[in-house]
Amino acid sequence: MFLLLSVCVCALLLGAHTQSQDRAALWRGNDRSGRCQYTFTVPSPSEASCPQAAGGGPEMESLKARLGLLEVLVSRLTGGGDTGGPPRGGAAGEAARSQPGLQEALNRAVGERNLLQGEKERLEREVQGLQRRVEEMRRETEKLRNKPCPPQAPLVPPSPPRQDSRPAGGSNPMSHLMGRPNRQQGDTSSLRDTAWQYGGTPGFQELKAEVTEVPAPDGPEDNTGCGELLSVGEPVIHRKADTIAGKYGVWMQDPEAQAGSPYGSKMLWRIDTVGSEIRQLFGYEDMEQLSKGFPSKVLLLPEAVESTGSTLYRGSLYYQRRRSRTIIRYDLASESIAARRDLPHAGFHGQYPYSWGGYTDIDLAVDEQGLWAVYSTNKVKGAIVISKLDPHSLEVKKSWETSIRKVAVANSFIICGRLYTVASYSSPNTTINYTYDTEKSQGKAVAIPFKNKFRYNSMIDYNPAQRRLMSWDNFHIVSYSVRLGGGQPAN
Ligand code: CA
Repeated sequence: MFLLLSVCVCALLLGAHTQSQDRAALWRGNDRSGRCQYTFTVPSPSEASCPQAAGGGPEMESLKARLGLLEVLVSRLTGGGDTGGPPRGGAAGEAARSQPGLQEALNRAVGERNLLQGEKERLEREVQGLQRRVEEMRRETEKLRNKPCPPQAPLVPPSPPRQDSRPAGGSNPMSHLMGRPNRQQGDTSSLRDTAWQYGGTPGFQELKAEVTEVPAPDGPEDNTGCGELLSVGEPVIHRKADTIAGKYGVWMQDPEAQAGSPYGSKMLWRIDTVGSEIRQLFGYEDMEQLSKGFPSKVLLLPEAVESTGSTLYRGSLYYQRRRSRTIIRYDLASESIAARRDLPHAGFHGQYPYSWGGYTDIDLAVDEQGLWAVYSTNKVKGAIVISKLDPHSLEVKKSWETSIRKVAVANSFIICGRLYTVASYSSPNTTINYTYDTEKSQGKAVAIPFKNKFRYNSMIDYNPAQRRLMSWDNFHIVSYSVRLGGGQPAN
């Protein structure tokens, strides 16, 4: 601003100089009212004193006009004038227009001021936004402080341990996920939960009577065998990713953790799949550690992972190698590749993805019957192909061709040998719209409500041990209870 002011003063002085005498002087000072006042003195070429007492002479008139202009400009530039744009009229405007250089300098100064003004307003808005967020967080903290803690609160009666007569997805899905026994291994240690410590307290029988009268939220369910999917519960949030790398990803739990494995049956694994060189596999001791974001193990995979189709089964991570149709079996105990094999004719790297893209060409799944691959080929022109894989060698044991296009659906999962597809990855209220029964080799349309709470669901898989859907919806690691019915015993 001062630079511009100096330019203005110099330009005026230069103009004045050419029309006056060799020696001239300019003083600047404030008058009594504080207004900026300029005094300009020029010696007369022919007379010892001023030829006229006041005004007089075309040169003096010209200088006065220029000084007047200078004063107006200085006043405006220093903020004393109006706050509008460049001068639009009057003597100052006329004079400014007569000096293209001055006009340009003035325009630049005004432009600069407008820019600064805009920046100031933006910062003010930002400050207001931050203040609002602080206020919201303060209210949230207040709310949480006033909320009682249900499991340990003295007002809530402790519930006795039960042999899980509830359906998958009871009223406390997180503890259910953490504490559910692994039926295949009969690992009773995982039955332990906070209720155990109250097992011998007085009044246990009364409490038991009360608890058993509470109806299960999802109604009666046969939890011992397989069956068709009847409904899916509300998404339960376990963790929100901290960084952009967690916008989409895959999380898994081995439904058949092997005895002697260095990792317990509660171990959860997670891969953030944003990026092109995805090789980190994070391990968490249990759901609580996952929710807190404290991994106990980080494995660096020898070959990069493609997308969100990985799965865990019997101590191995199964995943699609980046930019290939190669399936890799990575043994968690020895931390090495145990098997690799191309999935015959499978499209990869964006050829037959799910509707959200993300190179989701090959989706691996595990259910009560074993390991599956869901993908497509040129031969079936993009329709979903289901293949049953040998979990040891990765060979295809049998394949089924469905009539639904892979790119038309958001994701899929397999329960009891039946494939289910989800219609939309972004609609908060969508449906499971198709199912294919591999036993009957028949598909059919269905309409089972399904919620994408965070509107960007990049991974949905079924875990047969937990009897839950595990999913990754827009930075959020979530799970869903499922209700099965009308089926046959599990294999
Ligand atoms: Ca899936």
